[in-house]
Amino acid sequence: MRLVLVGPPGAGKGTQAQFLAAHFSIPHISTGDIFRANLKAGTDLGNQAKSYMDRGELVPDSVTNEMVRDRLTHDDVANGFLLDGFPRNVAQAEVLRAILADKKTPLHAVLEFSLANEEIIARLSARRTCRDCGAPSVGVDKCPTCGGEVYQREDDKAEVIARRLEVYAEQTAPIISFYRNEGLLISVSAAGNVEDITASAISALSRVAQ
Ligand code: AMP
Repeated sequence: MRLVLVGPPGAGKGTQAQFLAAHFSIPHISTGDIFRANLKAGTDLGNQAKSYMDRGELVPDSVTNEMVRDRLTHDDVANGFLLDGFPRNVAQAEVLRAILADKKTPLHAVLEFSLANEEIIARLSARRTCRDCGAPSVGVDKCPTCGGEVYQREDDKAEVIARRLEVYAEQTAPIISFYRNEGLLISVSAAGNVEDITASAISALSRVAQ
């Protein structure tokens, strides 16, 4: 199963991606997580990405596309993958299509999580992230997953959230029509509880992507 998840920041893509990746036994590839891991490790890639991430802007395609191209050469993608946070604009979607066409392994489906703007802002402002494992949480001092220290991501602060939503509307939302035209798009509401959303996503994917 080769999948892409699309949706505004705060729609719960990361959380759903983990459940879906486990359900379909495929690796979860989050470009945001890869950038944050590089930032933490102080690599060149992390340093290149930091100023863009802190402002809620997209990291340049030249950097991001090469990182994904490289990730898709790893052995663990032989049986599929779930991309979360990539592509983020039409140019990236075209690069992904070309990479997969070369390997003769096209996408099976693109799952869109939709959510109203007010709900997105409420979720992102309340979100905290674990410094150790990266898991999101709300209203706790320690990470519920690993007990690590939680912090507010620079880009979950109010002024940056507004910019991320603009970037999503201007640059990322056009990929939804791109994938609809390719006949790959499946849309699921991201409102409600996590288990119900996972169940709707799995049921929609099992119908379409066999
Ligand atoms: P995320 O964790 O998916 O919300 O991503 C956090 C930040 O990483 C984004 O706001 C961007 O600055 C950067 N980023 C993640 N994925 C991409 C991408 N596909 N293209 C460009 N920048 C990205």
